[in-house]
Amino acid sequence: MTGNSKNKCECGNEETAENTAKTLQKASFGNTGCCVGNNYETSAKSLEESEEDGCCCGGEFPDQSLVENPENPGTVADTEFFEDLEKLAHSMGIINIGYTPVGPELINTNETYPNAIVLTLKMGDDIIETAPGPEAQELNEATYAKMGSITYALSDFIRAYGFTTQVAHPYGSMVSFSPLGQMAGLGWIGQSGLLITPELGPRLKISAIFINIENLPLKEVDDHSWILDYCEKCGKCIKACPEKALIETETCCGGTQTEFIQKRCIGCTQGCTYCIEECPFDRKGYEHVKNRFDKMNEKLREKELKRADVK
Ligand code: SF4
Ligand code: SF4
Repeated sequence: MTGNSKNKCECGNEETAENTAKTLQKASFGNTGCCVGNNYETSAKSLEESEEDGCCCGGEFPDQSLVENPENPGTVADTEFFEDLEKLAHSMGIINIGYTPVGPELINTNETYPNAIVLTLKMGDDIIETAPGPEAQELNEATYAKMGSITYALSDFIRAYGFTTQVAHPYGSMVSFSPLGQMAGLGWIGQSGLLITPELGPRLKISAIFINIENLPLKEVDDHSWILDYCEKCGKCIKACPEKALIETETCCGGTQTEFIQKRCIGCTQGCTYCIEECPFDRKGYEHVKNRFDKMNEKLREKELKRADVK
């Protein structure tokens, strides 16, 4: 259970990528981001173990890359490598590719990894259109399996180039995926706890490949932090949740925060996606929401200026 502060708490910290990463690190594989499913041997065991913890999500997924890590790996890649990697990833259906250093606070194992490549894949319309239940869950499982296979294939490609990798399966709990995606500049974590990106809104799955390459092409990325301000005025995901897995609570300073109660979430067991489909970023798209939000803020500013003139 974690909180995503809506009003900046006077006794707490401002919401930055780093702080959000910390506050959400335990929840980010919850929600629909943690739904069951894969075709790998370990899934049943992982599911069983995580259910014992009060959550059916996550678990350990051994790296199933087929190419071995090189014995004498390189650490510097050229532009051609990244171009080839991104081209291959897009050809397999990957929408976003981001690069980021990895803070230890995001890793849920005792390992440390310096850098990561973060990938997103679109969730199909069929999952969204299917009511929570066995059928939706099956569709969700298939998406996780597909994303896992793509990630292993990309890991093989990187290893064949002479670099070392470690795959974080999208259904696994090795890393907190949404904060990792935020740190890679792909988007921002909304009140739902899900990563919201310009290309896919919250309708996505995330995986990662830890990598030893030192010269990652970290890009100047757009600032998506305004999403939190928008969420403050929206709250539709909280209302849409049939299980009260997203709830509003008061902070010690009289503000409010959203908490995600993982054990109540049926995204994992029944493929629930209500918090995704009710999100304006899914319904209207990122640009539309941003334009309207910018216009609304502009009007508010004009009103304030007028009021100041009158005084
Ligand atoms: S709507 Fe609620 S129960 Fe459904 S996936 Fe979202 S948080 Fe979980
Ligand atoms: S439904 Fe509203 S509050 Fe929830 S994540 Fe989407 S924009 Fe934010």
